[in-house]
Amino acid sequence: MNPRNNHRLILFPHPFQGHMNSMIQLGRILHAQGFSITIIHTNFNAPDPSSHPHFAFRSIPDGIDQSKASTLGIGNLLALLDVQCAVPFEECLREMVSSQGGDAAPIACLISDSLFSFTCSVAQSLKVHALVMRTGGAAYLYVATILPVLKEKGYIPVLGSRSEEAVKEFPPLLVKDIPAGLDPQKPEAIFRILDNLIAVIKDSSGVIINTFEELEHSDLESLREVLSVPFFPIGPSHKFCVTSPSSSSQAEDRNCISWLDKQLPKSVIYVSFGSLAATSEAEMLEIALGLADSEQPFLWVVRSGSVCDPEWLEKSPSHFLKALEGRGKIVKWAPQKEVLAHPAVGAFWTHSGWNSTLESISEGVPMLCMPRFADQGVNARYVSDVWRIGVHLNGGLERENIARAIKRMLAEREGEEIRERALVLKEKASVSVRQGGPSYQALDALVSHILSFK
Ligand code: UDP
Repeated sequence: MNPRNNHRLILFPHPFQGHMNSMIQLGRILHAQGFSITIIHTNFNAPDPSSHPHFAFRSIPDGIDQSKASTLGIGNLLALLDVQCAVPFEECLREMVSSQGGDAAPIACLISDSLFSFTCSVAQSLKVHALVMRTGGAAYLYVATILPVLKEKGYIPVLGSRSEEAVKEFPPLLVKDIPAGLDPQKPEAIFRILDNLIAVIKDSSGVIINTFEELEHSDLESLREVLSVPFFPIGPSHKFCVTSPSSSSQAEDRNCISWLDKQLPKSVIYVSFGSLAATSEAEMLEIALGLADSEQPFLWVVRSGSVCDPEWLEKSPSHFLKALEGRGKIVKWAPQKEVLAHPAVGAFWTHSGWNSTLESISEGVPMLCMPRFADQGVNARYVSDVWRIGVHLNGGLERENIARAIKRMLAEREGEEIRERALVLKEKASVSVRQGGPSYQALDALVSHILSFK
């Protein structure tokens, strides 16, 4: 018998879509390594157990009303989940620890999302080893560790007049890329979240992070030095399980794949702003007009809840939609990884969420970046200025700027050069997860680390 079959890992994902996807991926990877997997999850945005027959599931109450969650705002929802999940999580883990010894494999460790602040202390009180899963990139995490310095130097709170200034302590970051800079109204809320994040990581026995050495080597090294815990960069984690079914909790509209099949190679701009970012009705109209003016075919994800009025798409005058449909395709949720891997897709207009960024890098797709909040400013800056595999949408969300930027990406020499660099990085990502590659080795090291827990 594989010795790992006698080890159970308890995974506790954060319910936001990008976080849930990453943790489920991690579960698949570790299951393939011979571990038994139990997922403790919130009722809010619960995963579908039937899609993951090899895992055991335990749900905990979180007190979140699903229908009202989108009205709370992301910061409030995060804080509420953190407060309301602590006791139910502790009860669930305590019950699992005390019922060990039956048929189920003994618990080797807990792996929880780094956004929950209480998990490591609960695990320690129950004598369970705890690792954390960081679903974002290393650069943003490093920025989180130097926020006190940035405050001291006067970059925060971010003032509009200084937003284009360079952060000398962290080139090539601009002041507006600092996490608080994207939500200047509520800098304290984000500092609290980031302070908790750093504290939980310091409390843990190690960090599993969805990035790869070649992409973020120097930031990973800085993190190892500053936080003094082992880091296991195993990204792009979705590339370890190429044949795995979707972990999305939303219904994917697969018609867009047959639509893509009919488009010319590298001609389509894929547009998606992730699972959380909201867009106003006025912005949606500007996006629509910019897409039409670009004269390039587009595939646009307008998920329910992405506009202030979730019924916006249905209510839009049908002639407006028809005009757009002539040029492109609108869906409520796309099989994004498959879309990015499709030969017809030439560029990705993204909010620069970390999963989207890494999925785009994995397929060599150049990005047009429109960061909105949290880590997205840092991610976008790395895309445009460090890896140089995309550009920012400069000049505001206006139809002329949009059309111009899309043409620049899809129809001009500059776009070709960006694509060439993106393809080089794609190859590095691919090598990383192959046998002997850096992420493959990090996974080996992670498995040994877990097996060393007594
Ligand atoms: N996604 C998807 N279909 C869509 C839009 C998004 O499958 O139509 C997935 C995408 O592949 C990614 C996740 O949703 O894995 C979004 O995560 P990201 O970190 O990019 O952004 P967030 O949603 O956390 O802002």
